[in-house]
Amino acid sequence: MKGPTEHPLDFLAFGAHPDDVEMGIGGLLIKMNKKGYRTGIVDLTRGEMGSYGTAETRFEEAEKASQILQVTLRENLDLGDTQLSLSRENILAVTKVIRKLRPSIILSPHVIDWHPDHSATGQLIQQAFFHVRLKKLDLEYPPHYPQNIFYYPCHKPVIPTFIIDISEEFTQKMKALHAYQSQISAGKKVKHSSHTIGISDYSFHVESRCRYFGSLIDVKYGEALLTERPLNVSDPLKL
Ligand SMILES: [Zn+2]
Repeated sequence: MKGPTEHPLDFLAFGAHPDDVEMGIGGLLIKMNKKGYRTGIVDLTRGEMGSYGTAETRFEEAEKASQILQVTLRENLDLGDTQLSLSRENILAVTKVIRKLRPSIILSPHVIDWHPDHSATGQLIQQAFFHVRLKKLDLEYPPHYPQNIFYYPCHKPVIPTFIIDISEEFTQKMKALHAYQSQISAGKKVKHSSHTIGISDYSFHVESRCRYFGSLIDVKYGEALLTERPLNVSDPLKL
């Protein structure tokens, strides 16, 4: 068995595809980095089945975005775009990377989403959160006990448990998103009159969501998170 990572992460964000994390919680990661926390990203697939861009271009774009977000590390498990399932093999792959990186807080796409890869990622993380603690599960790295999982919404409307004010981080979040030029330029080519198809107007779509979530807490831009279990609060005045 390998020894524990010397520098555990404070926040580990999972995405099904490169750019999921940037869209959902890029502002939160920037904000946490400013506070001096260690953050990292693990993408479960390379996004090779996306309508625009290749796995290679999306990898390069993800590298660029990571530099703008200033995350400590980014890894890709390459479990197969549009092939994510709740298999034992996938659960153990996710469990292993959590044990390796030892995060306090895990961030994941919400388990309920229209995109099957997003909901599968949420379910895999949910399972891994259980498996990561099992003492008798031999996975190279010792058991780990993360504090909590917070889920970020992707496409499906949700009622957030709480919202992070990212007004000061919004410009940098959008800069990170613009690293994904294959997705942005594809959106510009799509000429559908009044509605967006998928990410056909990528920036407008993300900005609208951040403005909406911000409006719910009376700030300019926000990012939403959900918990499965009620939060343990000892001093409501500090909320
Ligand atoms: Zn995605």
